[in-house]
Amino acid sequence: VEPIKIAVIGDGGVGKSACTIRFVKNQFHEQYDPTIEQTYSTTVETEEFGSLPVEIIDTAGQDDYENFRSVSISYGQAFLLVFAITSHKTFEKMESMLVEAKEDAPKIVIGNKSDLSADRKVSVAEVEAWCKERGFKYFETSAKNNINVREAFVDLVQQAAKK
Ligand code: GDP
Ligand code: MG
Repeated sequence: VEPIKIAVIGDGGVGKSACTIRFVKNQFHEQYDPTIEQTYSTTVETEEFGSLPVEIIDTAGQDDYENFRSVSISYGQAFLLVFAITSHKTFEKMESMLVEAKEDAPKIVIGNKSDLSADRKVSVAEVEAWCKERGFKYFETSAKNNINVREAFVDLVQQAAKK
């Protein structure tokens, strides 16, 4: 069986690597190399489809790597769009990232760093409105405290498996 290919996309520093590593290895580190782009293989247990092989590309790179990033994004057949609830700029950035992702591919949105809610800059209502317009599910996660990360990935895998 061909693995389901998930691309994790979003602005730098939002926790793409942290969420991916939380999901794949159940670990959290305070620092990740922001330039490293890596692919991980894992399997996901689903009620409906049993055990499914999944490949995750944790994308990296900023504006200097625009071409490079497009290549990584084209890899995905399902997308995890990540922003940090502590930075409104990272929420706004999703709009332009979305342009690069395959239009009819399943997508979900993650508002990461929910453990830092005292420093929240993006309201739940604002994200939910944005997601509703586009038909995406929204999850607030903390890679640090292991909140909702697995739920988000599993939901996306199930959507992709149904396609
Ligand atoms: P990326 O550039 O999107 O891959 O972001 P990273 O995964 O490298 O994370 C950037 C920084 O945010 C790192 O210092 C992480 O430790 C931190 N970070 C990631 N996720 C969380 C989280 O859920 N809560 C908190 N408090 N910090 C996080
Ligand atoms: Mg990273």
